[in-house]
Amino acid sequence: MAKFFGFLLIVLLIAVPLGGLEFLSTHSTLAFGSPPKAIGEATPVTVRIENPHGARRISAFVEQGGVRLPLEESKSPADRFKFWRKHLPPADFHFTAGRAKTAALKEGKAKLIVEAESNDLRGSLDSISTDVDVIFRPPSVTTDSFQHYINQGGSEMALLTPSGSWTEAGVRVGDHFYPSFPMAGSQERVALFAMPWDAPRDTAPFVVVRNAAGTEAKTQFWYKVFPKKFRARDLPIDDAFLNKVVNQIDPSGSGDLLDRFLKINGEMRRENNKTLADLRLKTAGHFLWSEPFLQLANSKVESAFADVRSYIYKGKKVDQQTHLGFDLAVGQHTPVPAANDGKIVWAAMLGIYGNCVVVDHGLGLQSIYAHLSEIAVKEGQSVKRGEALGKSGSTGLAGGDHLHFSMQVDGVQVNPIEWWDAHWIHDHVRVSLAANGRE
Ligand SMILES: [Zn+2]
Repeated sequence: MAKFFGFLLIVLLIAVPLGGLEFLSTHSTLAFGSPPKAIGEATPVTVRIENPHGARRISAFVEQGGVRLPLEESKSPADRFKFWRKHLPPADFHFTAGRAKTAALKEGKAKLIVEAESNDLRGSLDSISTDVDVIFRPPSVTTDSFQHYINQGGSEMALLTPSGSWTEAGVRVGDHFYPSFPMAGSQERVALFAMPWDAPRDTAPFVVVRNAAGTEAKTQFWYKVFPKKFRARDLPIDDAFLNKVVNQIDPSGSGDLLDRFLKINGEMRRENNKTLADLRLKTAGHFLWSEPFLQLANSKVESAFADVRSYIYKGKKVDQQTHLGFDLAVGQHTPVPAANDGKIVWAAMLGIYGNCVVVDHGLGLQSIYAHLSEIAVKEGQSVKRGEALGKSGSTGLAGGDHLHFSMQVDGVQVNPIEWWDAHWIHDHVRVSLAANGRE
């Protein structure tokens, strides 16, 4: 009997720690960065793997007709004993899937699989998979034959005709992709785009088309960019101004007045501009307007588009920002008309812009009205050109009563001066559409 208990003790002495180690082994959680719907020649894929012990092996496969074709594998030295002290952060596994990796791949349906083996005693195997289409047919695109004269900081329109296998078509300027929209009764599509005020000199616009597998084709239209010199202005600020704007925009903040102002003028300005840019996703797929845009009547232009402002406090320059709009002053609480027909996509407080209204005019084109003393419209409402959106004021980052007016194309702020100009619209927008029997 004693022998038996002795044996049992030995078994327990061995089994409990091993069982404990077993218990300390862990599973991996896998997630696609964005699950690919299709793969082609070499489609980039990312999978995030979360396992505090890490993975000793990660493998990617594509499965087609019951056959597993290997794509990529990553191995780490095995760690069977010290793993339980590890608390590794999630790691991204990047690989490419497609014919470049496995020549046996055929067009049609397939399954993309990623496996991770836990880097600990048990080495638990976990996996993720998704159904994909395998597409090798490339997309292609042609563009219009117009002459595109583009102002730095301005807007332009191009027509394009995608064909083959494609899912996205538009114009790329620098890093920004401007989507195109279908035109009724035509294979052609239309894209508005901007040449940003701060784009490097040699920035070229491209017409780009992509398929679901990430294969891209591009082409170019004839264009010429006119560089612009923007104005530099000193903007003196004093304690009265700082007190007014800081206490209104950030009433619960504390600390040095100038520091709070600089945070509003920098960090909050960037956040607010991002909120404005994200409204591009709320645009209509066709133009909602037909007349040129209205400029606030009888107004004095206090600031123009892309003025570079140096903020001077107690005789010293404390900040510099680019002013991406027009400051138009008339008088106290002047009715502010919609510059054109459209739909309200924002009607609320927005940080430095105070009470702010944004009107969508379709195809990514939007107008922005800031510092209003009151707002007379609601989000989702349609407005007509000249209809009152509210009244001018000095809410947000504003010294006195004025309207800050700005426009954006797919979230990139542009010089509104072109959109106020019937000739510019005729030459850059209407001609292109007219050539397609749209007008
Ligand atoms: Zn302004």
